[in-house]
Amino acid sequence: MVDYHVHLENGPYTLEWLSLFIETGAKRGLKGIGFVEHGHRFLEARGIVDNSWADDQCTQRTEDFVNLVSRAKEQGYPVEILLGVEMDFIPGKEERIAAFLKGYPWDFVLGSVHWDGQNPLDWPGLLWREDEILPVYRKYFRLVKDMADTGLYDIAAHFDLVKVNGQRPPGIAVEEMEEVIGAVRAVARAGMAVEVSSAGLRKPVGEVYPSLEILRLIRSMEIPIVFSSDAHHPGDVGASFDDLATHVRSAGYEIHQRIWA
Ligand SMILES: [Zn+2]
Ligand SMILES: [Zn+2]
Repeated sequence: MVDYHVHLENGPYTLEWLSLFIETGAKRGLKGIGFVEHGHRFLEARGIVDNSWADDQCTQRTEDFVNLVSRAKEQGYPVEILLGVEMDFIPGKEERIAAFLKGYPWDFVLGSVHWDGQNPLDWPGLLWREDEILPVYRKYFRLVKDMADTGLYDIAAHFDLVKVNGQRPPGIAVEEMEEVIGAVRAVARAGMAVEVSSAGLRKPVGEVYPSLEILRLIRSMEIPIVFSSDAHHPGDVGASFDDLATHVRSAGYEIHQRIWA
């Protein structure tokens, strides 16, 4: 059992900081941790997420992150270390994304949709008017489909992130939306895995990503899943993985061994 989505961004790129995440992971019985950084924080990926907020955060050399995680792999930690990146999908930037990804030895690439053009989709406290919710959902899941269709990504991150602040389109079952089914199909076609993430439990929506109904749809297309916490602090590594286990079992997945505490 691996936590495939752990961020180091709230501390320095040092083994001391990284080892705090390992400590929690080991305590919770994880076999591995996949460290990721947001693509928009890397100078070499500057301009892919094309807005001033991302530019302000763009301060790290990719090489420094890659070197840190590579050094960590050689430390003999009790959990296996994987090198990952959480790369936004931005329409029109496919070639730049591909060129950036090609330059480094990633073990896996998480695909994320956080932006609709200049508009954030997952900011804390962001609330849409009731009549805006359905169009936003449609747009979000179309972007997830387009992301999968690029073939550049291994894992779809926080599949139904758009629900983050608890808003849902009125009178509609999200899992029956044509755009949602289209996104799941595209993920299956691309041979990607889907992340089952406990991050939503720590957000206003208070629910795992993806919802049970969407996860059943994902299961019906025999798409593999991975567990993730989207931890940004050491204490969140492997958080609520028991809840994730219950969630995926309810969706029809089998877990043969329970190895986290
Ligand atoms: Zn994300
Ligand atoms: Zn993340």
